Amino acid sequence: MGPGRDHISLADIGQALRQIRSACCRIQRPIRIMEVCGTHTVAIYRHGIRQMLPKEVQLISGPGCPVCVTEDAYIDLALELASKTDVLIATYGDMVRVPGRGGSLERCQPAGKVQVVLSADDVLALARSNPDRIVVFLAVGFETTAPATAVILQEAIESDIQNLCILCGHKLVVPAMKALIDGRNTLIDGFLCPGHVSVIIGSNAFRQIVDVYQRPCVVAGFEPLQIMAGLAEICTMLAEGRAGLGSVYRAAVTPDGNIHAQQLMARYLQVVPARWRGLGLIPQSGLAIRAEFGRFDAVQRFGLAWPDHRESPGCRCGEVLSGLIWPDQCPLFGDPCTPQSPIGPCMVSSEGSCAALYKYGRHVR
Ligand code: SF4
Repeated sequence: MGPGRDHISLADIGQALRQIRSACCRIQRPIRIMEVCGTHTVAIYRHGIRQMLPKEVQLISGPGCPVCVTEDAYIDLALELASKTDVLIATYGDMVRVPGRGGSLERCQPAGKVQVVLSADDVLALARSNPDRIVVFLAVGFETTAPATAVILQEAIESDIQNLCILCGHKLVVPAMKALIDGRNTLIDGFLCPGHVSVIIGSNAFRQIVDVYQRPCVVAGFEPLQIMAGLAEICTMLAEGRAGLGSVYRAAVTPDGNIHAQQLMARYLQVVPARWRGLGLIPQSGLAIRAEFGRFDAVQRFGLAWPDHRESPGCRCGEVLSGLIWPDQCPLFGDPCTPQSPIGPCMVSSEGSCAALYKYGRHVR
């Protein structure tokens, strides 16, 4: 890929493959590249990208699915809120089926306690049309969805919406990548960086992974050819013995990202330590509502306490999310854990590693 180019032709995919093969010949050992984006995980399975690559290149899926990394304590707190008579839960669709200790929010749907929303506008409209109830928005996801939460807070303040609060569970991608290399999976050679998140945070956000940890990072879009070009760039850097920062998604991602969205997040949300399902507590890896807007924090408003942390018995999502095992190395994979009856969150979301392997990739394994 030349500088500034984003359009990739079929000839480019042949070129990318030649580049990858040539790098493998020079490196002479397995190359482990992690994608930290659920959309990449699904695209890699759906388009059969693993089958195209030389066997030396191992693609491993990291903690890139927002539902999968949401800890069970968060679900338990959401269930506790849903049990209150005057509360209406507003949530993105995938969260409804994620199991906590007390089951999932799915069981509250028939009673009309849970509403699936698609946008910040939906949440605000729900609060306006239910003045006799308190709408609690389950704010999860990475930097991609956090700006929408900031917009909800801004609008609620400006419009003086009193019956709205937020259970904030947003996570930040770069601290999780650092935590992985720092100990949970030191064998990662390079990262295919997430396209959506990078639109907000900018490609320069990965500079610290490159400079401090000496791992190549390349931001890619979601077309197969973009993914192949990203992998080729990483492999070439590894063959040349250098760590660099690249992007094959320059049509959408700038070096500094979306400054307006970053400012909006910084105004209403602050960086805090956060617990990730399967990965534990990671410093400076989450977002919480700033103290001055505490009246919109569901935990404060209802005087709740975070339940103790606990993983689903037998579920190995932590090892899956760290890239330490393949999903089908979990003894529960496929029986009894399936997308129809998930035991862990990685089987719930269509972007979860277990669900993606179940749907697209069992023949690969
Ligand atoms: S197969 Fe099911 S139980 Fe096993 S790690 Fe995946 S989600 Fe968890």
